[in-house]
Amino acid sequence: MTIVGENIDAYCLKCKLILSHVILFKVDGVAHRVKCKTCGAEHKYRGTMPPIKKTAAVRKPGAVRAKKPVAEKVTVNTAPLLWNLKIHNMGPSKAMRNYSIKETYKVNDVINHPVFGIGFVEETFWDKSISVLFNDSVKLMGMNIN
Ligand SMILES: [Zn+2]
Repeated sequence: MTIVGENIDAYCLKCKLILSHVILFKVDGVAHRVKCKTCGAEHKYRGTMPPIKKTAAVRKPGAVRAKKPVAEKVTVNTAPLLWNLKIHNMGPSKAMRNYSIKETYKVNDVINHPVFGIGFVEETFWDKSISVLFNDSVKLMGMNIN
């Protein structure tokens, strides 16, 4: 069934306007192919609405979340600073013990280690180990071990 000459408003892709078209033929009573009366282009009848371009979907600015750069965990070595402070505050009468793994130390003891030098006992653990602040880092040392 072909009906020629019937007018219909349709969106013309070339003119990019809703214009009067001529129906070239209908399918099941619905305009199927039309011809633009303005530019003469023949095209499929798409109704009066411009085709929605999927790619034209505008993303809202900020919709794409920029991944936060994972801040590298910077471990600040405060040992030298603290060590210097302790040395500075240490009275001249403070007893310094030579470190030996067989000895037992307690918090605030000052030890002299053959390798690491002067250290300050900061913590004790189960009478078997001590956390010692040396001038470069805090080290875990054994003690009371025979
Ligand atoms: Zn046209």
